[in-house]
Amino acid sequence: MKYFLLPLGCQMNQSDTERVRTVLQGMGFVPTENEEEATLLGIIACSVRQKGIDKVYSRIIKWNEMRGHKNCITFVSGCILPADRERFLKLFDLVFTMNDLPELPNMIRQYGIFIPTKDNGQQSVSPSVSPSTISVNIQKPLVPLFSKKDKINPSANMDRFWVIEPDHISEFEAYIPIQNGCNKFCTYCAVPYTRGREVSRKSEDILAELKDLVQKDYKSITLLGQNVNSYGLDKKGEEINFAELLRRIGEYGDSVDKEFWVYFTSPHPRDMSDEVIEVISQYKCLGKQIHLPIQSGDNDMLQRMNRKHTLDDYRHIIHTIRRLLPEATIFTDIIVGFTGETEEEFENSRKAMEEFKYNMAYIAQYSVRPGAVASTWADDVPKETKKKRYHILTDELMKHSLVYNQGLVGKTVKVLVNGIDRNSAYLTGHTEGKIVIRFKSSNRNLIGKIVKVEVTSATPLSIEGNLIEE
Ligand code: SF4
Repeated sequence: MKYFLLPLGCQMNQSDTERVRTVLQGMGFVPTENEEEATLLGIIACSVRQKGIDKVYSRIIKWNEMRGHKNCITFVSGCILPADRERFLKLFDLVFTMNDLPELPNMIRQYGIFIPTKDNGQQSVSPSVSPSTISVNIQKPLVPLFSKKDKINPSANMDRFWVIEPDHISEFEAYIPIQNGCNKFCTYCAVPYTRGREVSRKSEDILAELKDLVQKDYKSITLLGQNVNSYGLDKKGEEINFAELLRRIGEYGDSVDKEFWVYFTSPHPRDMSDEVIEVISQYKCLGKQIHLPIQSGDNDMLQRMNRKHTLDDYRHIIHTIRRLLPEATIFTDIIVGFTGETEEEFENSRKAMEEFKYNMAYIAQYSVRPGAVASTWADDVPKETKKKRYHILTDELMKHSLVYNQGLVGKTVKVLVNGIDRNSAYLTGHTEGKIVIRFKSSNRNLIGKIVKVEVTSATPLSIEGNLIEE
């Protein structure tokens, strides 16, 4: 039997999906890209924007129509607001939070799916079962899996979710979840309501997963969390902090004869200690690229966003990065047109972009995020103004990223090769600082390897070069 899985949204959802795949494949299901031939159809939902939720509705309407000519089970998990969960219960067969993933085989069994043993009795699912031995007799479960009254805590018992070995999509790039949930309550964001409060994963399990990936020759490993640098704080002294976690990873990197880069996303400026930056400067495997969301360059706006830091706090972090990690690239997230953003407030964001000279900025035109505090506020900056501000910040970004990229021309950089360019005569990749690069080569065996490339030309968002060492 086959399953079709649709992950929506951020890297965290992509990473969660890899564990969902393990559980489904452990039951003997095999993946398919064709919804029509799937018995099990699932969505890993994202509630960050209304658009994401709209996609969930359009898909489930289509799937429920398909029931007219086929048997199937539908499920939804991921980032779901409590109000949507109630609506989804009427549309999907199964609605569950990620921490309940280990129960998924039991939930599916309630629909009459069973795996016969040799004497034709039902057996528990196991990864070794061949898909052809599964039978299906879909019927409604006798016991509802959730009722509207169930109190859901999406961040409880996360350890039993993390312990599932992910089925990685890539053979050289991987995410490791180190934390779930968020305690920050930025007014434009719904994550604390969909994923619950911060919970840190055991450091020994994180290190074990990382070592396993390194031994399997993974080259780019990203530590994931909504607020990675508050790692360990919820354990109140019983767990190491983020800087120490990085140090232990760095020490391991120094002890093995393998080249790999470890990144993290996303940190919050409020919890970004100097110690974290010092540790990154001390170990070769800790990638010299920092993603530090600024969201706004204006103190009043930062307060309305409930970011809990000032522009000066942020500036201190950037100065520390420039001092201790002069070679590091810096990326950011920034929002234009948030509720009430004046020309002056926007101008402060532009000045911040000018001052901090980012290599990359993910610039969002504000749109209401259902469930967030600001969803009850007026979305009062006209669309045209948001668009204009978006273009101004994009120009600002391009100006600085071009200067940086031009500075690389003539230099030799290490590149993790990750695919084939649209022009198939070229391979693509990124540098340790995550600058996108392409170079001429037809050697597909280089994909997944770190090679040396001499940079020959630059644009604001990418560079090009010649392969000099495989
Ligand atoms: S730090 Fe703010 S933006 Fe990030 S997940 Fe938490 S509430 Fe959302």
